[in-house]
Amino acid sequence: MTDFDSETGLCKGCAHVREVVSARGAVFFMCKHPERPKYPPLPVMSCDAHVPREEARVVVPYERLSADALRGVIDEFVSREGTEHGLEDVAIEDKRASIVRQLKKGLAVVLFDRTAGTANIVLARDLPS
Ligand code: SF4
Repeated sequence: MTDFDSETGLCKGCAHVREVVSARGAVFFMCKHPERPKYPPLPVMSCDAHVPREEARVVVPYERLSADALRGVIDEFVSREGTEHGLEDVAIEDKRASIVRQLKKGLAVVLFDRTAGTANIVLARDLPS
């Protein structure tokens, strides 16, 4: 996969970019790198600070996280929209247990973003091959 996008150049595929959507639906690409302009003129054809998005993400074995850290990542995941369990009201403990089972089976993984300093749970099948 190429990092280059005809509209933004290197920015769209960069780990430092955040897509900002205005109230009118316009999409802006904001650079979060501390030494770069927040809104560089696009397309950015060359940038020493560019980090391909996929290179910034690493799978962290869930066993390496402390119990508190793992619980924080799991709680953040289960509280997000789109992880609902249909119309049933599922207890948070059951949701946590379900995620732990998926982590143990390798169906889900903890993905750490080195540039953002955040961890997330994703389905293993959604990882780039
Ligand atoms: S670091 Fe460079 S390539 Fe990455 S978002 Fe900022 S300006 Fe774009």
